[in-house]
Amino acid sequence: MAAKNILVTGGVGYIGSHTVLQLLQQGFRVVVIDNLINSSEVAIQRVVELAGDNGNNLSFHQIDLRDREALRKVFSFTKFDAVIHFAGLKAVGESVQKPLLYYNNNLIGTITLLEVMADHGCKNLVFSSSATVYGWPKQVPCTEEFSLSAANPYGRTKLVIEDICRDIQKTDSEWKIILLRYFNPVGAHPSGFIGEDPRGIPNNLMPFIQQVAVGRRPFLTVFGTDYNTKDGTGVRDYIHIEDLADGHIAALQKLIEDPSIGCEVYNLGTGKGTSVLEMVTAFEKASGKKIPLIMDGRRSGDAEIVYASMKKAERELNWRAKFGIDEMCRDQWNWASKNPWGYGSPDSQS
Ligand code: NAD
Ligand code: UDP
Repeated sequence: MAAKNILVTGGVGYIGSHTVLQLLQQGFRVVVIDNLINSSEVAIQRVVELAGDNGNNLSFHQIDLRDREALRKVFSFTKFDAVIHFAGLKAVGESVQKPLLYYNNNLIGTITLLEVMADHGCKNLVFSSSATVYGWPKQVPCTEEFSLSAANPYGRTKLVIEDICRDIQKTDSEWKIILLRYFNPVGAHPSGFIGEDPRGIPNNLMPFIQQVAVGRRPFLTVFGTDYNTKDGTGVRDYIHIEDLADGHIAALQKLIEDPSIGCEVYNLGTGKGTSVLEMVTAFEKASGKKIPLIMDGRRSGDAEIVYASMKKAERELNWRAKFGIDEMCRDQWNWASKNPWGYGSPDSQS
C-alpha cells in the first residue's frame, strides 16, 4: 500500500514535533506547516535526524495558516489523506490579555484551513482540543459527554472550533473528524533531543519546575494549598508526550479505517490524578535536584481536580497510555539537563 500523506499544522511545536517523529517512524509521509511563532526550526531538524532514513519523508514550509494562497499551494502539490491540526496559540493568560489575537489566529487559521481542505477534497481531520473545555468539572473522571464551558478566550477558541467541526460534518457527511481532548502533556522524547521549549515565563507546571531545576528560576510558586484534594494542591491528569503522540497515530488509523466515524471526540490522558506536590516530589527523585517552593494563593480560573475517563479511547481507539509520572519526570529531566536553554541559548531567552 502506498504511504499515506499527512499534513501537520503546527508540527514544529511541542506536541507536533513528537507526533511528526512517530508518524515518520511508522512510515507516513509528512508535510509540516508552521509559522514558527512559538517554536524553533531546530526542533524539525532534530526530528529529521532522529527519524534516520525516514527523515527523507518530511518536508517543512514556514507558512501562516491564515495565508490562504500559500496554503492552497501546499495542497496543490500533494494530495493529503488527512490533516492533523495542532497550530494555534495556547497561553491562557495571554489570551485574556489579547483576546483578538487569539480569536484571529486560532479561529481564522482553522476556518481557512477547513475551507482549503474542502476545496481540495481532503476531509479527514484530527484536531487538538483540550481538557480546558470541561471547565471546573462537577465530577471526575471527565467523560466525553460532560457539558462544556470555557473560562477564557483560549478555551473559547477550542469550544468554537469543536462546534464548527460538528456543524460541517452534520451538513457534509464526507467529513471525518476526530477531536482529541488532551489533558496535561509533559515529558520529552527519551533521546532528550526534542522536548518542550516555551517562550518567556512558562505558564505550565512542568516547564516551570524544569527551569527551577536547571537554575533558570529560583523557586516554584505553588498556586493554592487549600483545595479539597489529598494534600491541598491542584490535581491534574499528566500524560507522557510519547503516549500522547501515539494517541494521534491511533486516531489517524481510526479515521482512515472507519468510514462511519463522523465527528467523534476522545479524551487523551491516563485516567489518573496527580497533585502539584506529588509531581514536584517525582521530579526531585528523577533529577536529584531540590525544587524550592513558595506556597501561594489559588491562580484565578484554576479548577480543583481534573482527570480523564479513558474508557472511550481505550474501547474505540484501542489505545491507552503506557507511562507513569516517574517516566514523565525522567524524560523531562533528560531533555532539561541536555538542553537547559531549550533549543536556544541563554542570550535568546528571557
Ligand atoms: P506549541 O505552541 O508548542 O505548538 C503550536 C505550533 O503552532 C507552534 O509551533 C506555533 O509556531 C504554530 N502556530 C501557531 N499559530 C500558527 C499559525 N497561525 N500558522 C502556522 N503555525 C502556527 O503548542 P503545543 O503544546 O504543541 O500544542 C499544540 C496544540 O495542542 C495547540 O492547538 C494547543 O492549544 C493544543 N493543546 C496543548 C496542550 C498543552 O498543554 N501543551 C493541552 C491541550 C491542547
Ligand atoms: N501550578 C502551580 N505553579 C505553577 C504552574 C502551575 O502550582 O507555576 C499548578 C496549577 O495551579 C495546577 C497545576 O499546577 O493546579 C497544573 O497547572 P498547568 O498550568 O500546568 O495546567 P492546567 O491548569 O492548565 O491544567
